[in-house]
Amino acid sequence: MTDRTRPRRATDEGLREASRLERRAVDQERGEPLAVREPGTVRATRRRARPLGRWRRRPRILITNDDGIESRGLLALKQALDPIGETFVVAPDTNQSAVGHTKTMMRPLRVRERTLGDGSTGWSVDGSPTDAVSLAFLGYFDFSFDLVASGINYGANLGDDITYSGTVSAAMEAVINGCPAFAVSQEYYQHPDFTLAARAAAVVATNILEHGLAPGELLNVNVPAVPAEEVEAFEVTRLGKRIYQDQLIERVDPRGIPYYWIGGPPPSGLAVPGTDFHAVVNRRIAVTPIQLDLTAGRLLKRLRAWRWELEDDAGGG
Ligand code: MN
Repeated sequence: MTDRTRPRRATDEGLREASRLERRAVDQERGEPLAVREPGTVRATRRRARPLGRWRRRPRILITNDDGIESRGLLALKQALDPIGETFVVAPDTNQSAVGHTKTMMRPLRVRERTLGDGSTGWSVDGSPTDAVSLAFLGYFDFSFDLVASGINYGANLGDDITYSGTVSAAMEAVINGCPAFAVSQEYYQHPDFTLAARAAAVVATNILEHGLAPGELLNVNVPAVPAEEVEAFEVTRLGKRIYQDQLIERVDPRGIPYYWIGGPPPSGLAVPGTDFHAVVNRRIAVTPIQLDLTAGRLLKRLRAWRWELEDDAGGG
């Protein structure tokens, strides 16, 4: 039997520390390649963008979601993008809604080959949407991708929702891996019909492949729950403000111990013109550009005027 009480060997710690110092030396020299832009050059992910007819091979499109491999929205997205490029479906094996940018680090991941509803092959991962995208980019396939599409999510991802959304996080993970991406979500429908959202996704995918996105940028698309003929148009929007109506519900389990549900009615929002929420409630398809750089620009300026000095250590203890 292994001795679990054995102290960690000093040499393990020594090796970790040595590699940490070595990495720091490399980090100090590397600088910020993305910030360096020579005049007239395009940035990384824009380089390959061109009209669809002028791609030398069919664009490779990774399709994922957070509702799980069996979602009809996932299949609808795949089928909408099949005419545009070569599609590969890699998605969580169960519903991972609202897991955000969860990354599995403390257990191994299992991948299973699956047959999708249209008879094609896909792959399911027993992890998060981010895990699915990571697997695809870190070598599960022996090629990379030109675009990642995440969705079609069952339920809108508007305003503050994107901080919870596994759908949007999957697109963010693609962007971290240097690939342009978009997320597409369908507002709750009594009888979910993904036809309109699928058509919208094809327009978005074509636009990204033809125009490109800069590093750190992605698109978040939300489709209203109305029949196609009642949709007004696309609208390019900014993120809006959600109003959550969550409640803490306390119940008692069979052993008399209380447990809790966080739930309640679906979120509302502030219908401010120009926002994604306003567009969707007015029957328009909202296309919102978002970026991974969450730096607060105005606060950055204010913060510089604050006092940033370590207090003298007068500690007598
Ligand atoms: Mn979902």
